[in-house]
Amino acid sequence: MNDPRPDPLIEPRPVLDVDGVRRILAENWDLGGELVPLHGERDLNFRVTDASGARYVLKIQNPADTAGVVDFQTAAVRHIRRVAPDLQVADVVSTRSGHAWSTTNDAEGRRCHVRLLDHLDGHHPDRDDLVEADLYAWGRTVASLGRALRGFFHREAAYPIAWDIRRLPAVRNWASALDEERRRAVLDVVSRHEETVAPTLAALRAQVVHNDLSRDNVLVDDRHAITGITDFGDMTHTALVCDLAVALADVLDGREDSIRLAEPLIAGYASVTPLERAEADLLADLVAGRCAGALAIQAWRLSTHSSAPLPSTGAWHLLQQIQAEGLDRVAAGFRAAAEPTAYNRRSTAELLSVRGRSLGPLELSYRHPLHLVSGSGVELSDADGRRYLDAYNNVPVLGHSHPAVTAAVTAQMRLLNTNSRYLHEAPIELAERLTATMPAGRLSRVLFVNSGSEANDLAWRIACLATGRAGGIVTAYAYHGVTAATTALSPESWPAGDRPRHIRLVDPPASGDETRTVSAAAAELDNTGAGVAALFIDGAFTSDGIFGPAHSWTSRAVAAVRDAGGLYVADEVQAGYGRTGDHLWSFAASGLDVDLVTLGKPMGNGFPVAAVVGSADLIDPFIQDTDYFSTFGGNTVACAAGLAVLRTVEQQDLTANARDVGAHLRRLLADLAVQDDRLATPRGWGLAVGVDVRSADTGNPAPELARRLVDHMRERGVLIGLTGAARSTLKIRPPLVFTTADAERLVSDLEASLSDLAE
Ligand code: PMP
Repeated sequence: MNDPRPDPLIEPRPVLDVDGVRRILAENWDLGGELVPLHGERDLNFRVTDASGARYVLKIQNPADTAGVVDFQTAAVRHIRRVAPDLQVADVVSTRSGHAWSTTNDAEGRRCHVRLLDHLDGHHPDRDDLVEADLYAWGRTVASLGRALRGFFHREAAYPIAWDIRRLPAVRNWASALDEERRRAVLDVVSRHEETVAPTLAALRAQVVHNDLSRDNVLVDDRHAITGITDFGDMTHTALVCDLAVALADVLDGREDSIRLAEPLIAGYASVTPLERAEADLLADLVAGRCAGALAIQAWRLSTHSSAPLPSTGAWHLLQQIQAEGLDRVAAGFRAAAEPTAYNRRSTAELLSVRGRSLGPLELSYRHPLHLVSGSGVELSDADGRRYLDAYNNVPVLGHSHPAVTAAVTAQMRLLNTNSRYLHEAPIELAERLTATMPAGRLSRVLFVNSGSEANDLAWRIACLATGRAGGIVTAYAYHGVTAATTALSPESWPAGDRPRHIRLVDPPASGDETRTVSAAAAELDNTGAGVAALFIDGAFTSDGIFGPAHSWTSRAVAAVRDAGGLYVADEVQAGYGRTGDHLWSFAASGLDVDLVTLGKPMGNGFPVAAVVGSADLIDPFIQDTDYFSTFGGNTVACAAGLAVLRTVEQQDLTANARDVGAHLRRLLADLAVQDDRLATPRGWGLAVGVDVRSADTGNPAPELARRLVDHMRERGVLIGLTGAARSTLKIRPPLVFTTADAERLVSDLEASLSDLAE
């Protein structure tokens, strides 16, 4: 820093008596009135109220401020007012002769620039006034001002200023003015800055920034809404993130719990200007740097100028808090706050201990629950960076976080998301494309909802309305949803033995016991007076233990329900979208005529979207009679997701992949079952695969061993689940992008797990 210019840090404030100030106002702006001194670290500031009540701020700048610096500040303010009129920045009032400033000599004969600015209403908030929402808004303002200055440059922006955190090493010279404890703390921060911060900081995006959005330079109204931004005296060209660090240090210093309170301010900033990873990494160091710089500069000033303001204790307090917590820990918290959607702030242990307090005894998968943070394709990653092969989740048919869906959803969310009572191409196109995939030309209508449960609930209402009946038939351990109507259709969810009176059960195919048939069930329902409205079939029989293909069983069942006057609802929530490998829809593979089709789970690859598909004969009267409408059903974003999924399943022919990889997987599992009596021959079709686990001695279901196997597989990094009434069937149901190599990995881990668990 060999700058020859005078330094406003060294140069004391201008000295002028009130008469002198009045003269300046009259000569340059034809103004008179009441003068009230205002706070100013380096400049002499007055509030001016003229006879009409109009208010201004007269700024007699520090003698060290050259014409170039004054022009820099003026040009910046005018630029901001032009590009971001919403930001409350005081306009510069031109002099009588049309200049942005005038000059005067102060009482000591030093030449000073003088400017008149519009007065901004509001007051400076007290330290403890700002609550989280205020801090979030503060962060947004800091970022918005940074954005407004993005396109601004001025050659004086290179003017070296000690308050630029990039110049922190310079405070070494001044630290001697501090007491021993503070000096050591400051020098520690400076050393760390030189060693680890400076090289990265030099490579970060840089621009002109305000560099001083402290409580002293921001005005708020009574509700803490920001009404003005003042004092561009520390403005400089530096790393953009320094602007945020300065605001954090200055707004939070001296507060209890300042590190936690930093989070909303950072999140607010990031909501306008997302931080780059390297910026987020350095943020805590830069806040510490700001505190260290402030301590050294203020102490040195006090030691050399009797008129210098007393240093605030806040910077020291904040630096101590950072040291107590540890810079690396603070850095991790700040980094997380900059990524509000990543939700990785709390440790696995903490989540485990607090989850029940808010979510109750809601089940978690696996003995050692998974704390997942990201997914890609068939792989999931946990908070420790461990990766898992996902052979369980059927919702992300295309694989986790699929780019086509992510792009479609985010693009549409940015543009528009509304309900289906407006004309929009997305729901219409999705409905057209879906009905085009359905084999029966009759299935021409689509009702969009948000979940498989809602789809089945709606299908149930449609069936009851159309048939005038009130009874339902489902397989013995089926699951069709979570609503009141669909829970009745879900024996898996019934408290033991508690069958609703209007429901009858049938045995699923090849369960070894087919005494309860559809015709018998329909006859019973007729006897009760309810009659059968519908038979619901999940084509993969997922909850019953995974069966299929079961074409002849299904044909018989459907014929029987039709004979009894009921409808056939094909629940494709699990089996649809190519999972069964033979067709996009499992009912179509059976060649059956269907009344209603319900879709869900994979339909949005993770984005909630579901549907009922049916004929005009069934759907139209229902819409008319009930004035059907769903706020979110068929919303623009959900349909964009649905279109991306359907398109990708078709383009990548994932149905064929499910067929081929599924067949390979079952072959490998069958080979394993030949070697190990504890596994039965695998069942299922496509990538819906079930394997019974049994006692090698008795052949009876072995739920405890099955559970241990699933947990053991999780420890080995492969995720599968359990199904079936006895909870002894391994459920293997991966995303449809599963490969033969993935299938081989799964089976080899299963083999290893079986051998680990051999008695
Ligand atoms: N039908 C079937 C066959 C299902 O497996 C499920 C969910 N497991 C549903 C419907 C309900 O779907 P959702 O949980 O999305 O409401």
